[in-house]
Amino acid sequence: MQDVGVDPATPHPQGGVDYPRTLLEFSEWFGSEKACARFLADVRWPGGFRCPACGGDKAWPTSRGEMRCAGCQRQTSVTAGTIFDKTRKPLRLWFQAIWYVTNQKFGGSALGLQRSLGFGSYQTAWAWLHKMRRAMVRPGRDRLKGCVEVDETYVGGDEEDVRGRQTERKAIVAIAVEVLEPKGFGRVRLRRIADCSANSLTPFVCNAIEPGSEVRTDGWLGYTRLAAKGYRHVQTVLSAQEDPAHVVMPAVHRVASLLKRWLLGTHQGAVRAAHLDYYLDEYTFRFNRRKSRARGLLFYRLVEQAVQIDPVPYWQLVGGKSAATTTDGAYES
Ligand SMILES: [Zn+2]
Repeated sequence: MQDVGVDPATPHPQGGVDYPRTLLEFSEWFGSEKACARFLADVRWPGGFRCPACGGDKAWPTSRGEMRCAGCQRQTSVTAGTIFDKTRKPLRLWFQAIWYVTNQKFGGSALGLQRSLGFGSYQTAWAWLHKMRRAMVRPGRDRLKGCVEVDETYVGGDEEDVRGRQTERKAIVAIAVEVLEPKGFGRVRLRRIADCSANSLTPFVCNAIEPGSEVRTDGWLGYTRLAAKGYRHVQTVLSAQEDPAHVVMPAVHRVASLLKRWLLGTHQGAVRAAHLDYYLDEYTFRFNRRKSRARGLLFYRLVEQAVQIDPVPYWQLVGGKSAATTTDGAYES
């Protein structure tokens, strides 16, 4: 089954060769730190390891998550610059956490992860989940293309009667969904935005969608700059016709309702606005791979993305993407 919505470094990883297909294979493959380090090295350097000191291409994994060059004996970290950087926990435990998270159909909670891995601290499980979420959507990914619906929705808070685009406590989430012919949805992009002005919506569309694509929106003024940005902008003015929004923009409304159900169900709606971006990233990761029956492939993709991003200090996780709140949390990385 096609792995929808990925811009892979390795185009077609094979089950049983590139990633474990079952829990039994997983256990057999990743029984030691050396085995985990070797796997990370293979994923991180798909063209093969090269010693940064002597250029040699023969190296062996050590039990401390490093590759030791056969020529000059220099040790190179396979975790430096990744979410595993400077971890004091075994890579085996990290691998188990990623396996756990990618094998939960609707995503794992911190409590579930804590129980599954036997963590003493809820906070550690929470921090690990957020580190993994950071790896779920990486910069430089492919933008959506073809025909794409765009709209905004409101998440969280308890305002019962929000009129139009006025909101006080709810977060505003911009949604873009590829619409496939003859039917069905492709990939999604989600982003929390400050407001529904053109200054917020135009950059969202430019980051999410390839120029030249057809972008379908309602008649809101916030979308008026799209044609100037190189999009084929198709506007449907809702007030001028009978069809309600879910008929005119079925894809975004379907995704919005699934997103809200997921936030309420898996996370009991307990998502602080500052952390919403990470949940949106996790939702995007799961949605874009919903047709992939191989859970092991999700494990592979998450490891692949985990070795391509920068490490995230705990204070940054706690503070959300923009705020820099510190914490007295006693957490182990
Ligand atoms: Zn060397």
